Amino acid sequence: MGARKPHAICIPFPAQGHINPMLKLAKLLHHDGFHITFVNTDYNHRRLLKARGARAMDGLPGFRFETIPDGLPPSETADATQDIPSLCESTTTTCLEPFKRLVARLNEAGDAPPVSCIVSDGVMSFTTEAAAELGIPEVLFWTTSAAGFYAYTQFEKIIQMGYAPLKEADDLTNGYLDTVVEGIPALKGIRLRDVPSFIRTMNIDEFIIGFIFSETRRAQRANAIILNTFDALEQNVLYALSAFLPPIYTVGPLHLLQAELTGSRLDRLGSNLWKEEPECLNWLDSQEPGSVVYVNFGSITVMTPGQLTEFAWGLANSDVSFLWIIRPDLVSGDNAVLAPEFLEAVKGRGQMARWCPQEKVLGHQAIGGFLTHSGWNSTIESMANGVPMICWPFFSEQQTNCWYCCSRWGVGMEIDSDVKRDGVEKQVRSLMVGEEGKEMRRRAAEWKNLAEEAAKGSSRRNLHRIIDEVMLGKV
Ligand code: UDP
Repeated sequence: MGARKPHAICIPFPAQGHINPMLKLAKLLHHDGFHITFVNTDYNHRRLLKARGARAMDGLPGFRFETIPDGLPPSETADATQDIPSLCESTTTTCLEPFKRLVARLNEAGDAPPVSCIVSDGVMSFTTEAAAELGIPEVLFWTTSAAGFYAYTQFEKIIQMGYAPLKEADDLTNGYLDTVVEGIPALKGIRLRDVPSFIRTMNIDEFIIGFIFSETRRAQRANAIILNTFDALEQNVLYALSAFLPPIYTVGPLHLLQAELTGSRLDRLGSNLWKEEPECLNWLDSQEPGSVVYVNFGSITVMTPGQLTEFAWGLANSDVSFLWIIRPDLVSGDNAVLAPEFLEAVKGRGQMARWCPQEKVLGHQAIGGFLTHSGWNSTIESMANGVPMICWPFFSEQQTNCWYCCSRWGVGMEIDSDVKRDGVEKQVRSLMVGEEGKEMRRRAAEWKNLAEEAAKGSSRRNLHRIIDEVMLGKV
């Protein structure tokens, strides 16, 4: 059993975009000699069993899965994304006690080394209390971009400066969001619309605002902070963050770091909450290099039936081949229904699936562009594969990621939030066959090289440093 192994409890926030990077980090720690306990919520564990099969969730020697309740009432649909603000509220108010009981049980059972470190999602920072009681190190993993994280830390200042709350509901549409927010040098030029979307409120007493205040404040109490980014990508905000936070370790892009685990038994452990449809890779095999636009809005985005229709006809009219992942709960109210005329129009060049192995898709040579909601995992996975993007940010810090892609990194173009088919058609063409797309592809190739360098250099070193300096306390 190796009683002297260090034992890390890894606890993600219970949403897809948080579980994926945490599992990658956990696998790397296991590879480096840690015993791992990975804590899912009961709800997601059931979904993982369904999507991946019971054996896949058995774990491995020295890598176990455990669960705690999330505090939300039972969901009517077994496979749907839970409401994120409600989840933030329920995890904050209900998870600490079950988590402490779990840690105590693990320590009492004696069939694993004593828990020596907690690696917790940045927005599950109630765990700092458990770590303090046990006297063990606490590492917070913020699964956002550094820029998104930094923007959250500036919420109080933005409110103090009077940019928020909004004065009237019309401020969402009357151009007010185009106001440039002055006074935050690391985000020079940022408009209110590029700040994480929770700032667009008329009521700063709502739960989510207080939650952002408390989670960003509590980050200061951790022993260290991990980010799934790399130094060259976000140097200026990393510098700004380091001025007031505990040591920050950049270990991204995590999926490049874990490439060395490919084919190992660890590789079998996956975290997709929906069942993957890998057949779309066969279809991509039959397509010309760089000819397909990949369309995926992640695990949380919800659109109206009207927006779905606009995207559909925009893609159809672009004459570009596409792979479109339509999650069963992508459209509000009902299942996504595409008109038979649309399906007829895109026969042969439009492929649809419900969920895909995204990293493999983005790494496929047929992919030439990505129409994305700008979730951080999707963004960094795309950049690490040299794929330029059309950005349609939905919520949270996706707006900030979009701004960076478009105005700082030169790899993105933004699509109007009030999406129209003509805009989709024009931008898809521009990305895939236009001059603008060509330049973005060139920039994306440069970032891909830098991402690969980081995965072999700075990010890998940082992972070993945080293990030695913080988790093992050797230094
Ligand atoms: N993902 C996937 N298949 C899909 C859609 C998404 O594997 O069909 C993965 C994707 O690779 C990423 C995560 O789900 O790791 C989505 O995270 P992201 O931060 O991009 O967005 P969120 O879902 O949190 O909005």
